Amino acid sequence: MKGYSFLSLARQALNRHQGWPVAWRTPELKKNYDVVIIGAGGHGLATAYYLAKNHQIKNIAVLEKGSLGGGNTGRNTQITRSNYFWPQSAAFFDHSLKLYEGLSRELNFNVMLSQRGLLTLAHSLHELEGIQRWANAIRINEIEAEILSPIEVKKLVPLIDIDCRFPVHGGFIQRRGGISRHDAVVWGYARAASAYGVDIIQQCEVTALNIQSGRVTGVQTTRGTIGADKISIAVAGHTTELARMADFRVPITSMPLQAMVSEPIKPCLHTVVMSPVIHMYVSQSDRGELVIGGGADLYNSYAQRGGIPLLQENIAAVLELFPAFTRLRLMRQWAGIVDITPDTSPVMGLTPLQNLYISGGWGTGGYKAIPAGGDTMAYTIVHDEAHPLIEDFGLARFETGALIDEGAASGVSH
Ligand SMILES: Cc1cc2nc3c(=O)[nH]c(=O)nc-3n(C[C@H](O)[C@H](O)[C@H](O)COP(=O)(O)OP(=O)(O)OC[C@H]3O[C@@H](n4cnc5c(N)ncnc54)[C@H](O)[C@@H]3O)c2cc1C
Repeated sequence: MKGYSFLSLARQALNRHQGWPVAWRTPELKKNYDVVIIGAGGHGLATAYYLAKNHQIKNIAVLEKGSLGGGNTGRNTQITRSNYFWPQSAAFFDHSLKLYEGLSRELNFNVMLSQRGLLTLAHSLHELEGIQRWANAIRINEIEAEILSPIEVKKLVPLIDIDCRFPVHGGFIQRRGGISRHDAVVWGYARAASAYGVDIIQQCEVTALNIQSGRVTGVQTTRGTIGADKISIAVAGHTTELARMADFRVPITSMPLQAMVSEPIKPCLHTVVMSPVIHMYVSQSDRGELVIGGGADLYNSYAQRGGIPLLQENIAAVLELFPAFTRLRLMRQWAGIVDITPDTSPVMGLTPLQNLYISGGWGTGGYKAIPAGGDTMAYTIVHDEAHPLIEDFGLARFETGALIDEGAASGVSH
C-alpha cells in the first residue's frame, strides 16, 4: 500500500492525479478462508483489519451482499461520543473514542474526526436532574461531562432559542464528542485491511451457513460455497436473518432510522446538539449541510426507507429550537435498518454454535463503536473467548437478566 502524504499528493498533482493506485484490491474468491466475516460495514471491516494487524491472521474474507459501506455505516449521522451511563458501556465506548482519536494516523487515511463537543439539552427541571445524574455517572466512569446553564448553552450555540415552547433549562456536554466522516472510516479500514491481504468481496450475499455437529464449517453465497474455520456475523439490521440461518434467535428488532441533510450554508453550528425530549439532534457537516436525525420509525422493516410523518416530526423539532433554520431547504433524506435490543446495548461475542461469532444489536449507535467493536471482536474470534471489555455484552445476558440498560443514553428514544 502506498502511503498518502503531502509529498505523494504533490507528486500526483504534477501527474494530473492519473497515477493513484486503487485503494483496495478486487480479489478472486478463494474456496477456503481461516475467517469469513459477513458484512462489509464498519464493524466487519474493522474486525478484519484488527485480525490481520493485531493477530497476524491474513487468510480472511469479508463478504458483502451489496457494496462496501452501503449499509448503516454509510447512512449514519457520524456522531462519536462515550457519554454512557453504565461502567461497561463507558469503558467500551471510551476505548472506541480513544481509537478514533488516533485513527487517521493509524490507517493513513483522514477520517476527519472533529471533536466539537456533544451537547445534550434538558427542557424541564425534572429532566435537568436526570441529566445531572447521568453526567455524574459518566464522571464516576472517568469520562468528562460538564453541566451547562441555559446562558452557557446560549453562549455555545447562539442560534438556539432557549425560550422556545419547551424552554431550555440547561444541559451537559462531552467536549471530546463530535463527528467524523463515515465513508472515510469505511474506506480507511477497507484500504488498510486489503493491504494486509484481506479479501473484500462485494456483491456476494450469504444465503445459508454450513453447519456440522453444532459447528459452522462454511457459508453458501450467491457466488458459491466457501469453507471457513471461523465465521463472524456483522450485518446490523439483518442480524436476525443470519441468526435464523444458524438456527438460533436473537432478541433484536429491525426498524428504519431516518436522517436528512439541508442545503449547505456558512458555518453557524459548531457543536452537536441533541434534545432527547424535543426528539432531534443536529450538527453541521464540513460541507455546510445541517445533518438532522431523530427517533426510529417504530415498526419492523427490512426496507431501507422511512415514513414521511416521522420526517416531519424531526424537522418540526429542529425548527422549534432553531427558528433561524425555517427557510432552509432539505437536500436529501434516507434511512437505514437498525438492529435494536431490549436494553439498547450491543450483542457481541460467542453464539450457540461453535466457531460462529456475532457483532450486532448496534441499534442507533454503532458507528461510534466501530474501532472498539473491530478490536474486541478480533480478539474474541482468535481466543474463542469474549474480550474482557465485551464479556458483559454477550447473548447470555438475556437469559441471566443482567441487562445493560442504555435506553436513556441513546440520545433520542427508540
Ligand atoms: C440514519 C442513521 C443514523 C445513525 N446515526 C448514528 C450516529 O450518529 N452515531 C452512531 O454511533 N451510530 C449511528 N447509527 C448507527 C450506525 O450507523 C450502525 O450501528 C453501524 O453503522 C453498524 O455498523 P455495521 O458494520 O454493524 O453495519 P452496516 O454498516 O449496516 O454493515 C452491514 C453490512 O452487512 C451487509 N449484509 C447484510 N446481510 C448480508 C448477507 N446475507 N450477506 C452479505 N452481506 C450482508 C449489508 O449489506 C451491510 O453492508 C445510525 C444509523 C442510521 C441508519
